[in-house]
Amino acid sequence: MAEKVSINELNIQFDYATKVRELLGNDKKAFTHTYGCQGNVADGEHINGLLQMMGYTFVTDPSKADFILFNTCAVRENAENRVFGNVGLLKKFKEINSDLIICLCGCMVQQEHVLKHIKKSYPYVDIIFGTHVLHTLPELIYNHLTSGKRVFSTPSSDGIIAEGLPIKRTNKLKAFLPISYGCNNFCTYCVVPLVRGRERSRAYEDILKEAKEIVAAGYKEIMLLGQNVNSYGNDFGEENLFSKLLKEINAISGDFIIRFMTSHPKDCSKSLIDTIAECEKVERHLHLPFQSGNDRILSAMNRHYDRAHYLEIVNYAKEKMPDIAITSDVIVGFPGETYEEFLDTIKLIREVKFSSLYMFIFSPREGTKAALMKNPISDKEKSAWFSELQKAQEEVAYERSQKMKGKVYRALVEGRNKSGKLFGRTSQNIMIDFDGDDELIGTFQNVKVEEPLTWILKGTLFNI
Ligand code: SAM
Ligand code: SF4
Repeated sequence: MAEKVSINELNIQFDYATKVRELLGNDKKAFTHTYGCQGNVADGEHINGLLQMMGYTFVTDPSKADFILFNTCAVRENAENRVFGNVGLLKKFKEINSDLIICLCGCMVQQEHVLKHIKKSYPYVDIIFGTHVLHTLPELIYNHLTSGKRVFSTPSSDGIIAEGLPIKRTNKLKAFLPISYGCNNFCTYCVVPLVRGRERSRAYEDILKEAKEIVAAGYKEIMLLGQNVNSYGNDFGEENLFSKLLKEINAISGDFIIRFMTSHPKDCSKSLIDTIAECEKVERHLHLPFQSGNDRILSAMNRHYDRAHYLEIVNYAKEKMPDIAITSDVIVGFPGETYEEFLDTIKLIREVKFSSLYMFIFSPREGTKAALMKNPISDKEKSAWFSELQKAQEEVAYERSQKMKGKVYRALVEGRNKSGKLFGRTSQNIMIDFDGDDELIGTFQNVKVEEPLTWILKGTLFNI
């Protein structure tokens, strides 16, 4: 079982937070921005909680801030380039305000070569901390304030779990609830295990406690998070613990819904699907990344399942829950992929009829096995394949949404969009908009689909 940050260590950090507040007062402004996945967003919510504890309030304009933090993502090169570009822009803020504190954290800085580059090329970055020491932010800021020096803390441990950190949630209706951190799968293209460490599950009771607090605080959606949620508890030596957890959260009384991501096809058992089907608060949506429709590529990716296994799970889920939506991640242009192999991916898309897909062009990541593989396909070809993929997905998504016409779906009303309509998501996680009063925001409403477009449904309130 993963080691937890001790109460003593937490108290030390809370004392540092008080000292920072005494040094800075209560009128300092922070601007924070998180890149990447929901796991990073969940970390960002604790970072903001700690900053609030140190007396910071938040601004949306970085030029008004006394403290700027970027919580970074390393999954693809373009995510990193965006961060480098934005850090470059901060130089002028520092020239105007030499007291400004600039801080970088998250997955990018956990890579040795990136860390070196930032230290050397961005001397105005004051604090850098990695993914395993987020809870020490008060101490890092205090050390920087009292020494005036740059502070770096990026240990490459396999990580510990910090419970009891303050949190400032991003959304008023939906709460992220991480259940595990890190990943053991070592897909050959992926940097996550290198920057986030081995998979470690949060204690079952800690998750349940937080779930109850979230419901009691009035949130309407709990999103359980992990790089591989369905291997939750394997590090305790227990199998199928994720199903048990889902059932127990489902049994918490209150009007709320449960979503979860990401599921790995190799760990997605039929019994988990049975659990989803029997839990009325678990939404009819399964995000199940397949990455490729070709068995040779799947094996080269080290995914531990084949196309037939993937289809077996999906077909079982559709049999049990005919209204379930399947979404996925897919990579185009893995090293050595041929056009014929890519066509297997297109065929799988047409066969499964995903509601939506996150599509990525392969991006070599230093330290991964795939980065060393021969990668003969040109960028131009990959872009052409990518467009073909987009087109195929658009067609199946349009087909899927047409089948929803005239049907009624329950949706959590999240807010008002740019066209002045209320919007929410159906159980299948498909956006729907409709006319209605502001007081409906934060409630569940039945909405009838009048005009299904490819990515959004146009509806009307349906009251009986
Ligand atoms: N743990 C999840 C899983 O295995 O499905 C997702 C983790 S990753 C943060 C999200 C997605 O990014 C992956 O599913 C994959 O499609 C994509 N991805 C990861 N590494 C990539 C790379 N080197 N190049 C392109 N896409 C990548
Ligand atoms: Fe990366 Fe694979 Fe782990 Fe997902 S399962 S985080 S893609 S190594």
